[in-house]
Amino acid sequence: MFNSLLPALLLAGLPGIADPFSHANPRDVAITHLALDLDLDFRSRSLGGQVVLHLARSSPRGVQDLVLDTQDLVIRTVAAVRRGRPDEPLPYVLGASDPVLGAPLRISLPPGVRALRVAYRSGERAGALQWLDGPQTRSGRPFLYTQSGTIHARSWIPLQDSPGQRFTWEARVRVPEGLVPVMSGELRSRRGSISRFRMTRPVPAYLLSLAVGDLGFQAWGPRTGIHAERPLLPSAHREFRDMPRMLRVAERLFGPYRWGRSDLLVMPPAFPYAGVENPTLTFVSPALLVGDRSGASTIAHELAHAWAGNLVTQATWNDVWLNEGLTVYLERRLVEALFGKARAEEEAVLGRQQLLEDFSSLPPADQRLRVDFRSRHPDQVLSTVPYEKGYLFFVMLERRSGRASLDAFLRRLFRDCAFRSLSTSQFLERLEAELPGPTGAWIEEAGLPPDAPWLGSEALDAADPAAKRLGEGSLAPENLPARTWSPRQWAWFLAGIGPSLDASRLGALDHAWHLTRSRNPTVLVPWLVLGVRGGHAPAVARAEEILGSAGGGRTLRLLYDAMLALPDGPARVGRIFAQARDRYHPLVASSLERHLRLRPAEGGSP
Ligand SMILES: [Zn+2]
Repeated sequence: MFNSLLPALLLAGLPGIADPFSHANPRDVAITHLALDLDLDFRSRSLGGQVVLHLARSSPRGVQDLVLDTQDLVIRTVAAVRRGRPDEPLPYVLGASDPVLGAPLRISLPPGVRALRVAYRSGERAGALQWLDGPQTRSGRPFLYTQSGTIHARSWIPLQDSPGQRFTWEARVRVPEGLVPVMSGELRSRRGSISRFRMTRPVPAYLLSLAVGDLGFQAWGPRTGIHAERPLLPSAHREFRDMPRMLRVAERLFGPYRWGRSDLLVMPPAFPYAGVENPTLTFVSPALLVGDRSGASTIAHELAHAWAGNLVTQATWNDVWLNEGLTVYLERRLVEALFGKARAEEEAVLGRQQLLEDFSSLPPADQRLRVDFRSRHPDQVLSTVPYEKGYLFFVMLERRSGRASLDAFLRRLFRDCAFRSLSTSQFLERLEAELPGPTGAWIEEAGLPPDAPWLGSEALDAADPAAKRLGEGSLAPENLPARTWSPRQWAWFLAGIGPSLDASRLGALDHAWHLTRSRNPTVLVPWLVLGVRGGHAPAVARAEEILGSAGGGRTLRLLYDAMLALPDGPARVGRIFAQARDRYHPLVASSLERHLRLRPAEGGSP
């Protein structure tokens, strides 16, 4: 498929993909390597220094403009870097800032210039950066981390911020005494306050990441280990000890792991995601430290991204289903291989339930696999559709072509397209050549197509009668046959009993099964939603405690929505949000603000 593009490339310049979420012009000039030299200042909450950008140019002998993405960056100087000569300052223009894309930095490149130095600092509203003080961390020491996806890398580095653009990188990072930096690449050296890292495989900007804190490290094996704030290290090492086995199983299923190390980093409580697939260093939420290894599915998901997403990447955020749908499919194949078919089935059925819920609130255009976010920010539009409808698409392929044929197709994809980016059309072209069959309705239409595969789980079905009888009042809570239920069976059961229980019956259920005290978010979150809506006071108190102490974006949204349904909901939500806002990740805080303001009919907004 890539050979067929070559004649077009000769006419059109470099092989960049047009990306509606980037100002960059990679067909004219593309970054091939990036060398960062950064200082961190926790007092002013800013990060800065310089970056040297190495460039490929479609016409190196003429004058060309390079356009970089920036968001809220303070640009100090831009200079051409030439071997054996002093830096030569270059003219540049920082354009007007677009609310979604940020500001384009346009630099005029003289003939022959193939490297630039940009000196800069991050701004106060950098979307990628969360600076935490001692009281917000487990160690009591400050913590900083970056979240570059979806399009926030531009808020800490001026670069071409598109999943279709890849480059290698190196970094020199200076941090305050006693703190340890880690990055999504190989550690080269650490001397005093200065650490050096590098990534020798080309990656897109959204996979560049940095975290700094009072971190310790403990290994499981030669390729795997865990970084965490020191007080969390022993429990985190125990919780995720399946990691080395998971990596071996993943290689057997998907082909060689191409990234060297595969470590984990446990994040502070305000981290807004369950996990993020930064190469060589997956970031994971401390909410997964439950003590029962139930977070293994999240770890499987992030590990699967080492193939789907990090190795073969979506071309733009409109193609995000390619990254996430394929990753959820690979995740459940890993879960099946590691923990058995029943658990993978339970997770698939729960995933479809979430998808159907999301369908009910999404406009038809956002229910398609190939979305068009247009002028919206990708962060604001992401739903379960690329994940769970994308997953069902790959299950459909598996059932239509057979598992062996799909596996062979995927292994060829990971081999032939390694370290490249694919658009939906390019992927479908390849699929049609190797596993032909209709796919159009999945990509272009709302809802689920007629050939959507049926999913079932005996374990979840077994919880249905109990939910029905408890809802009707013909089964006492203490007689639930739930002694051996998995967290997923509990989640299914809680969804099944519906909003019919009043506070006293919720109290009886809680008394019998201690649900408010559960540490497992799969059980706790649906329980609190039910409990808060029914006015069960201990659930309301626990939900307030979680909302006040930060946490994942989806959890916060579900709990706030439940709170709004209380008689004094809007006032209560306003009070909690005002007190907790500074503890939330800035992106979560602003998305909650938008989400909660969408409900003026419910009595005003915080
Ligand atoms: Zn993912």
